[in-house]
Amino acid sequence: MVVPESAVERGVGTPTPRRVATISLHTSPLEQPGSGDAGGMNVYVVEVAKRLAERGVAVDVFTRATSYDQPPAVELAPGVTVRHIAAGPFGPLDKHSLARYLCPFVFGVLRAEADNLAGHYDLVHGHYWLSGKAGLAAAHRWGVPMVQSMHTLARVKNMSLAQGDTPEPEERVRGEDQLVRLSDRLVANTTDEAAQLRDYYRADTARIATVPPGVDLDVFAPGSRAQSLRRIGLPADAELLLFVGRVQRLKAPDVLLRAAARLLERAPELRDRLVVAIVGGLSGTGREEPGHLVELAESLGVADVVRMEPPRSRAELAHFYRAATATVVPSYSESFGLVAVESQACGTPVVASRVGGLPTAVHDGVSGVLVDGHDPEDYARVLHRVIGAPAWRDQMGVAAVRHAAGLSWSATVDGLLDVYRGSLAGQRLPAAACQ
Ligand code: UDP
Repeated sequence: MVVPESAVERGVGTPTPRRVATISLHTSPLEQPGSGDAGGMNVYVVEVAKRLAERGVAVDVFTRATSYDQPPAVELAPGVTVRHIAAGPFGPLDKHSLARYLCPFVFGVLRAEADNLAGHYDLVHGHYWLSGKAGLAAAHRWGVPMVQSMHTLARVKNMSLAQGDTPEPEERVRGEDQLVRLSDRLVANTTDEAAQLRDYYRADTARIATVPPGVDLDVFAPGSRAQSLRRIGLPADAELLLFVGRVQRLKAPDVLLRAAARLLERAPELRDRLVVAIVGGLSGTGREEPGHLVELAESLGVADVVRMEPPRSRAELAHFYRAATATVVPSYSESFGLVAVESQACGTPVVASRVGGLPTAVHDGVSGVLVDGHDPEDYARVLHRVIGAPAWRDQMGVAAVRHAAGLSWSATVDGLLDVYRGSLAGQRLPAAACQ
């Protein structure tokens, strides 16, 4: 492999990239996470890019332009530039229709580099399969390594669909197969995801690296629960059950509402104090209008305890986490579950389903409780126990802070730099394989 000497810093036998092209085609790091297609991946791209830049690795994030007036380049942080590439109609597009605009997107990325607007890159890092497909083409054109993070896998998602969800299309499955075959390195969020890449995609284990995501421990830190309750407009004796994330079937906010209804049947005396907050907006996929949840809450007789909240900034979210008795993550599938880690970093235990990355994100019985399956009765039972035993809840809260402290973005960046160095030092696949 030819590594441009001018751009790559050589340490003791290990080259470190100086410029990385990050591809985030379907969602921009400039968007507020918590609705549409903006979620954990956006947070990941921003947090990692900022920290790479602090360590001297400039990052350009390429994303599809969604309006005429977006400038071609926006500085997100020192050393981090978001580059808008015109591909397809301006305006939001459903993720599933984006594949047809891959060619113009790749063309735009290559032109930006060729015009030397963006400089030369030592490596490409793709996030999600669509970006991976675009990244692969650019990486091969430039003769640099391709590192791919899938974030979620179609085969895995299709095995755990919520009722009424549409399966991921075959085109995505084939795209992921291709990425597994042709990327120099695959980054998995958890050992579970690494095993899925191996078992369901026949990935070469030597090319998979497990690098857990992190949490911003400055923003998500413990604090006064009473103050945070006040801040979000709740009384001091409120028992807040919190859901944070995009409202989509896969994340199962309905399970929390149903569990709240069961909980109130078990403990009607809680009705005056119980609050269920759903923080987040409509998802781009698996569409479920927040309005449906309001209707569901009404039909379950719990509308009076439910608060639907629009997407919040990270600083505001920290108050919600601190104010909560427990954060509930009843997802059918979750590649990692940043929300679970953020809550723990704020000292709030998590009640989550035992799926995907959540058993890594939550230390079962110590920093929270994992529940098998999605039976609202099971969640109601656990939540009743947590509310009924404040000392146990607080003990888990203390352990949660310790557990989350082991997951910093700085550690994520350490891991990614190892992956980048490994791929720069390693052998590329022969170009002939890249069809
Ligand atoms: N988020 C946010 N504001 C909101 C709701 C969510 O900033 O109102 C963020 C949340 O803090 C987390 C991310 O969106 O960092 C969701 O990530 P997660 O891994 O939990 O789920 P994903 O969106 O990747 O499925």
